[in-house]
Amino acid sequence: MNIILLGPPGAGKGTQSAGLVERHGMRQLSTGDMLRAAVKAGTPVGLKAKEVMERGELVSDEIVSDLIDAELAAMGPETGAIFDGYPRTAPQADALDAILARNGRSLAHVIELEVDEDALVERITGRFSCAKCGALYHDTANPPSNPGVCDSCGSTEFKRRPDDNEETVRMRMQEYRAKTAPILPGYEARGIVSRVDGMAAIDAVADAIDAILRS
Ligand code: AMP
Repeated sequence: MNIILLGPPGAGKGTQSAGLVERHGMRQLSTGDMLRAAVKAGTPVGLKAKEVMERGELVSDEIVSDLIDAELAAMGPETGAIFDGYPRTAPQADALDAILARNGRSLAHVIELEVDEDALVERITGRFSCAKCGALYHDTANPPSNPGVCDSCGSTEFKRRPDDNEETVRMRMQEYRAKTAPILPGYEARGIVSRVDGMAAIDAVADAIDAILRS
């Protein structure tokens, strides 16, 4: 089963993807994570993407679609894909259709995480992750149970994304409204869109997503 998790920055796509990977053995394909890895490694893609990402703008459709294409081609056909943060524009949505078709796959669900935009800035500026295993946390909503120690791997090193500051977040939201939200009607016409209250507790959102996957 292949699904898209859609929603503005901070809606919980990464958190819910991690849960889906754990519960259902699906694979998370996050273009944001792939780009951050490329920036860290200093690859040509990373060099191109770094400043665009720091501004909160979108990197080129071709770069992200090529990343998704390569990852999907390397996946076994039995593993379901969770597209997290992709597609984000109409050309990317078209590219995804072509990539899926080439790989003999189809889209089962597009799940939109609906959120209150005013709460998003607080959500995003408070988030951090384990520097070692990547487990996701939030200063107030989801801190490690033992302060300063990762629940998953015991590491004491954490990191914050450079684009998780208020100014960049506002730009990322503007990009979402202008370029990403308009791809929803196309999926709606195909009858595959479901909406989930992304402001609910993490477990409640996960339950709602599982109910959609069973439907
Ligand atoms: P994310 O981790 O999904 O919030 O993405 C972080 C940043 O990476 C975004 O603000 C964009 O600059 C870039 N990015 C990630 N995915 C895409 C995409 N599908 N299209 C264009 N830019 C992307």
